[in-house]
Amino acid sequence: MSAAACAHIAGTKDIKRPTKRECAECVRIGADWVHLRTCQECGGTRCCDQSPNQHARKHAKTSKHKVVASAETGERWLYCFEDDAYLDY
Ligand SMILES: [Zn+2]
Ligand SMILES: [Zn+2]
Ligand SMILES: [Zn+2]
Repeated sequence: MSAAACAHIAGTKDIKRPTKRECAECVRIGADWVHLRTCQECGGTRCCDQSPNQHARKHAKTSKHKVVASAETGERWLYCFEDDAYLDY
């Protein structure tokens, strides 16, 4: 698995877990989400690519925060938006 990971994922040490199981940006605009991802640079939790608003991807683009962890219970993986790389942990 580690061969598939990029330098950004390799540099992610203490994995941040969600403090709240909701997308704050969806809550603000009254939208629904499908799954949640937690940014590994700022710790913010936002919605996934299957969600209508894709806030995690938009955040990655605007903030240059590249790596997210799944915020779903029982899922343990990291994803880098820049390199489209996954790593199970
Ligand atoms: Zn990367
Ligand atoms: Zn959202
Ligand atoms: Zn962030």
